[in-house]
Amino acid sequence: MAHLREADLNPTRALQPKHPTPSESSPRQSKPIFARADAYTAPDETRARGLYPYFSAVEASSATEVLIDGQWRVMVGSNNYLGLTHHPQVLEAQRDALVRYGSGSTGSRLLNGTIDLHHTLEARFAALLGKADALVFTTGYQASLAAVTTFAGRGDHILLDKLDHASIVDGSRMAIGEVHRYPHGDFAALDRRLAALPRESGKLIVSDGVFSMEGTIVDLPRLAAVARKHDAALLLDDAHALGVLGSDGAGTARHFGLDDQVDLVMATFSKSLAGIGGAVAGSRAAIEWLRHHARAFIFTASAPPASVAGVLAALDVMIAEPERRERLWQNTRRMVDGLRALGFDTGATVTPIIPVHIGDMERALLAWRALFDAGVFTHPILPPAVPANACRIRVSMSAEHTDAQVDRVLEAFVALARALDASRA
Ligand code: PMP
Repeated sequence: MAHLREADLNPTRALQPKHPTPSESSPRQSKPIFARADAYTAPDETRARGLYPYFSAVEASSATEVLIDGQWRVMVGSNNYLGLTHHPQVLEAQRDALVRYGSGSTGSRLLNGTIDLHHTLEARFAALLGKADALVFTTGYQASLAAVTTFAGRGDHILLDKLDHASIVDGSRMAIGEVHRYPHGDFAALDRRLAALPRESGKLIVSDGVFSMEGTIVDLPRLAAVARKHDAALLLDDAHALGVLGSDGAGTARHFGLDDQVDLVMATFSKSLAGIGGAVAGSRAAIEWLRHHARAFIFTASAPPASVAGVLAALDVMIAEPERRERLWQNTRRMVDGLRALGFDTGATVTPIIPVHIGDMERALLAWRALFDAGVFTHPILPPAVPANACRIRVSMSAEHTDAQVDRVLEAFVALARALDASRA
């Protein structure tokens, strides 16, 4: 059986040009442009070994369990931090909006696609973050693209942390202006880079608030100090911080008490807020500029009414039930303590994202499969998201997990620890 080729399995890596020679390409090849696709056999090879971890189809779900292949499994691989996907208030708001506004907006926000609920959500999101205004996008990915792309022009500079999310990286690729990537968390390097740039040029620093592969929080006080020193604007991608960090779940800046040090905050509605969509909050002028220039906002249909209504209801619940955040942290502590007691390396996580370091890709896939068979849904994190020898299983916690579910997951890890020890012996 073919050994896994780590560079080939991951879908994002597979997108990178490989330029096979004609002899490499399979006889199925139709036209030269499809040569890479025709030669791409890693998914089939991995499926044949029972180790293909993607696209498992959920047949039914609760906030914390999913039915897959006829078996209920504990979900510790979602971003359902507050467990609101099945909350009665959220579902009722969605149903009401469906009846009042119909199933889809059928157009751009700029034209026919704005409903009053989009404006209500923008006002609520801006108020939550202590900003003057906000703009709602159809996905968080588009909100990132817009925030990174739309402000920079020729002669401006965009500075990214090496571990920033793909949506930020993609935005920087589309942007006009020069892009610089500083080593993860290396603010001295960032400082040096900024010092070398023309004083008067526009500068935008972009960092994740919570890093999604590590579960760590950006050192915002130090980052903000560097930004201030160089008169650079600061944009945080708070996808994994909204609902999780700070009072009212307002995110990373609130966690540090530094709301006024962050110029723009991008966050998604697809995680804590249990819907789809994203938003950028900032000054009135910045948001007005985005509203009229962001291509990822203008040239796409708006977020559907039911989702917007559900997100508004989820915001209400997030603020009215702070005990959910408390429960999320209790669950996180129970899981991290349990995993560490079993001897697993969970890295430097300080959030409900818990990376369990396993080793190379083969072992990570075997670990994922063993957990899946034991009734636990997780994800293997593989290159290029992480280095080849730093593959991990990512466990993400929810406020809705019960102690019994956490213990079921830990039991599966007990069996996994034994199997990994045996395979090392
Ligand atoms: N930023 C980060 C850090 C993310 O993790 C994600 C989603 N994985 C996004 C942006 C994009 O958000 P969405 O899935 O809501 O489009």
